[in-house]
Amino acid sequence: MDGLLQFLKDLFFLLSINSAEDIPKLLAYLAPLVITWTIFRRIKRKGSQRSTEKMQAAAQTGAEPATLHPIIDYNKCLGCGTCVTACPEGDVLGIINDKAFLVNPSHCIGHGACKAACPQDAITLVFGTARRGLDIPVVKPNFETNVPGIFIAGELGGMGLIRNAIEQGRQAMDYIMKKPGVGKGNALDVVIVGAGPAGFAASLCALKNRLRFVTIEQDSLGGTVAHFPRGKIVMTAPAELPIYGKVNFRETTKESIMALWQEVAKKTGVRINYMERMENITKTDDGFILETNKHRYLTKNVLLSIGRRGTPRTLDVPGEDLPKVTYSLTDPEQYRNQKVLVVGGGNSALEAAHSIADEPGTSVIVSYRGKAYSRAADKNIQKITDHEAAGRIKVLLESEIQAIKPDSVEISHGGKVHRFKNDAVIICAGGVLPTPMLKKFGIEIETKFGTA
Ligand SMILES: Cc1cc2nc3c(=O)[nH]c(=O)nc-3n(C[C@H](O)[C@H](O)[C@H](O)COP(=O)(O)OP(=O)(O)OC[C@H]3O[C@@H](n4cnc5c(N)ncnc54)[C@H](O)[C@@H]3O)c2cc1C
Ligand code: SF4
Repeated sequence: MDGLLQFLKDLFFLLSINSAEDIPKLLAYLAPLVITWTIFRRIKRKGSQRSTEKMQAAAQTGAEPATLHPIIDYNKCLGCGTCVTACPEGDVLGIINDKAFLVNPSHCIGHGACKAACPQDAITLVFGTARRGLDIPVVKPNFETNVPGIFIAGELGGMGLIRNAIEQGRQAMDYIMKKPGVGKGNALDVVIVGAGPAGFAASLCALKNRLRFVTIEQDSLGGTVAHFPRGKIVMTAPAELPIYGKVNFRETTKESIMALWQEVAKKTGVRINYMERMENITKTDDGFILETNKHRYLTKNVLLSIGRRGTPRTLDVPGEDLPKVTYSLTDPEQYRNQKVLVVGGGNSALEAAHSIADEPGTSVIVSYRGKAYSRAADKNIQKITDHEAAGRIKVLLESEIQAIKPDSVEISHGGKVHRFKNDAVIICAGGVLPTPMLKKFGIEIETKFGTA
């Protein structure tokens, strides 16, 4: 508003209004200006309203940023919106009453493009918030933790993004292969845990340098990238994949990255033990025993490249190991014409349920232990209620899964066990975060409450 007043003063001066005859001339200049200004303010007000609604919906679910995220210095912020446009994830920042806000914290993945774009240097990137601290393991520049022989690379160490994870996986392995004792004795040189970008790059490096190694992965190749929504635009930067060479991706899709990694895995023959989960590490005199759900490995070093998203919480019911059971939704289309059970009452469960119910021919059951959805956004609850009214979703609150069979599920509800025909089960019961396990291994952790 100050800017407009100054502009009007300048205009009066420039037009040198001296007499009443000059007033129509002045109005002819002013009218379009006032109209444009009014439209501009209205658009801004609407944007502000939308951002406030988004921020309130996120606050309602207790959403917090998963990794590095921006905080804004309101003494410097002009509300220009450059940061909003710069963010590749789209709906993370918003302008409310002429200031930038983190309106969708859990969608922030730490690109840092907002900080680089801000002309006022008003943005700082931090870990954790005052309300919820973020546990970051303490690692040395060579990626070794305070436990000699245990290394951490990738997002688990704090720095997210695909390129960083690839670089760190490679650099950590460069260090490990130069350690004394590598290549000698009966123990493996290294066990690599996780086959996301960090663990995949580390495995290729280990293969290239003929280390005696095993890579285990509780799920499938690609880590978090494999679970991006279908067609997601991925912003990354060129990185060096051992054996393959330079990967020149900048803006690409999830599918292109996954196709490249599958191709590299096939061509190089790198061995990854899928569906194998690390469960414990015990120190021995000259290394570690690493226990998984399938084997025990004797190893001199361990590289933890397990990301920050943890291990999905299981229900521990009969039949949970059937191939039709998954722990996240990647592509609703794959469930067309199927009978799907979604377990859980949070946003992931409700989003999975209503997006599958939108697909033709589906019928969806939502089973949740609670009496009501406690941590889900209103818009998701509303969509479930609408679908329920239209007969596309059946909701069973205060229910529990008893067994999963190849073509049915058994659910206890209202004092009885009911059997429903079923083609697929998606369990969204949250995750077990890696921090308690790291602490058990003796790894030092620092909790950050909104600091760099
Ligand atoms: C929605 C979303 C969008 C994103 N978009 C982008 C983007 O556009 N550009 C970008 O650069 N980054 C993006 N990221 C961030 C990027 O995906 C991560 O920073 C990157 O995948 C981290 O790689 P990582 O190898 O460290 O961990 P992860 O990719 O998380 O891989 C860790 C692997 O370890 C496995 N694991 C975990 N625990 C165990 C265990 N106990 N035993 C065996 N295996 C285990 C997991 O199954 C997983 O496969 C995005 C993230 C999200 C969530
Ligand atoms: S780019 Fe900087 S000045 Fe502009 S809205 Fe964002 S934080 Fe504020």
